[in-house]
Amino acid sequence: ALLRSIKHVGVRPLARCYSAPAAAPAIKLFINGQFVESQTTDFVDVHNPATNEVVSRVPKSTQGEMEAALESAKSAFKSWSKTSVLTRQQVMFKYQEIIKSNIKLLAECITKEQGKTLADAEGDVLRGLQVVEHCCSITSLQLGETMSGISRDMDTMSYRLPLGVCAGIAPFNFPAMIPLWMFPVAMVCGNTYVFKPSERVPSTSMMLLEMIKEAGCPDGVVNCIHGQHDAVNFICDQPDIKAISFVGSDQAGRYIYERGSRNGKRVQSNMGAKNHGVIMPDANKESTLTQLVGAAFGAAGQRCMALSTAVFVGDAKEWIPELVEKAKALKINAGHEPGSDLGPVISPQAKERINKLVQSGIDQGAKCVLDGRDVVVPGYEHGNFVGPTVLTEVKTNMDCYKEEIFGPVLVAMEADTLDEAIDTINANPYGNGTAIFTTNGATARKFTQDIDVGQVGVNVPIPVPLPMFSFTGSRGSFVGDANFYGKAGINFYTQLKTVTSMWRETDITQTGSATAMPVMR
Ligand code: NAD
Repeated sequence: ALLRSIKHVGVRPLARCYSAPAAAPAIKLFINGQFVESQTTDFVDVHNPATNEVVSRVPKSTQGEMEAALESAKSAFKSWSKTSVLTRQQVMFKYQEIIKSNIKLLAECITKEQGKTLADAEGDVLRGLQVVEHCCSITSLQLGETMSGISRDMDTMSYRLPLGVCAGIAPFNFPAMIPLWMFPVAMVCGNTYVFKPSERVPSTSMMLLEMIKEAGCPDGVVNCIHGQHDAVNFICDQPDIKAISFVGSDQAGRYIYERGSRNGKRVQSNMGAKNHGVIMPDANKESTLTQLVGAAFGAAGQRCMALSTAVFVGDAKEWIPELVEKAKALKINAGHEPGSDLGPVISPQAKERINKLVQSGIDQGAKCVLDGRDVVVPGYEHGNFVGPTVLTEVKTNMDCYKEEIFGPVLVAMEADTLDEAIDTINANPYGNGTAIFTTNGATARKFTQDIDVGQVGVNVPIPVPLPMFSFTGSRGSFVGDANFYGKAGINFYTQLKTVTSMWRETDITQTGSATAMPVMR
């Protein structure tokens, strides 16, 4: 059924996820395994960033609908948490297969609502798929620990058990990958879920939910509500929700962390970034500049791991003009147009913010050696396009350095030594990602040892770890204890229960009650 319905997706995603046809169809909710129309009268328009046409409308779920989603997840937990690990694994096997067969359809949906190029959108799906594939090894990942003979005739076993109903709140920039960091990991551990996609890119999530249903996920195990602040507050406040995964901006992330943890929940909150690439003069020039351009301007700079700040050490600064030439050669166009290297940014407001930060850099003394602010894309004159932009002579007190720009803007700085570059990066409040480009092993080792950033690349510009590891942004880019996916993700979505048993063939009758603390020697 799924494969039949998604044949018709094209640039118009799943019919079942939409209500009755209209110029801008309303996205449905997903409650207890059914796609249902919201009863709200309050909607948020979803735009195609390349044209600014309204492509769909997201309902702000009513209180009753959010409660129904939670009730469904609570009820499903009773049976899903008792479902065998092999059954849960089978759902993941099927899920990865369905996603894999539909990468192009998912990518088209991403491009339509988010704007990134089709090739980049396929990467977005693939990185999420890798998490689902990793979830297929839940039979090993969820193993507990045992110790036989911890005392005479006594053994201890610890189990990793699900928490209950968990929730996820996602951002706009990775419409497939980030939802797939959330509900598959939670449900494969035996939890049930209330998911809230970004209101700016809801359709990819709806397709992913239709696919999980098709993969055999029972009704109520994953539910989806839509909305903004009210939906977020509902998730933070409901006592029956035990854990929250959040990815997005600093402001929302800190708010959700504080409100959720004040209510006794586990919260993992991945937030903003300012990622520095350090270019040593001994680096391989051609490959370094090529990688730098891809990592700074790819996805129009709207990646939390975008390499948005380049620190040229010593003579490496002589390479800036060549970097600018490479950036100029990038093709800016709507994401679905062949040959496009970067698409539009998400909204007119985002474009305005980016342009203002570039202007503030110029006003504060930086040089704009490549200015993409006035770019016009023929045929897409109403799109939110910003061309590759490079600011040089940037200093740490400038707003364009202090703030996350989240657009196709590379800020370039200079340092005399590697130590100076490391000090600059360690003084920056963010700790999501960083990279060094060098041919010297000792330099690379010093950098990886001394840098206080959670994800480090050596000649690798965007070091997002595969799911056998975890996404380990640090300092201002993360609050919480356990990171997303990998072993840390399994730990986040499980709690330990430890059972100590004594079995004796012949019971030795104990005389008198021992009131001292048992020490089990
Ligand atoms: P956002 O914070 O605006 O939105 C994320 C989610 O939070 C959405 O579902 C939204 O409805 C909700 N939300 C927004 N404002 C809120 C508020 N004031 N209170 C409560 N909830 C709110 O983020 P975005 O613009 O969609 O995403 C871009 C940001 O996400 C960037 O800062 C980027 O660096 C960050 N990001 C971080 C990572 C990471 O892993 N560190 C990954 C992707 C994106």
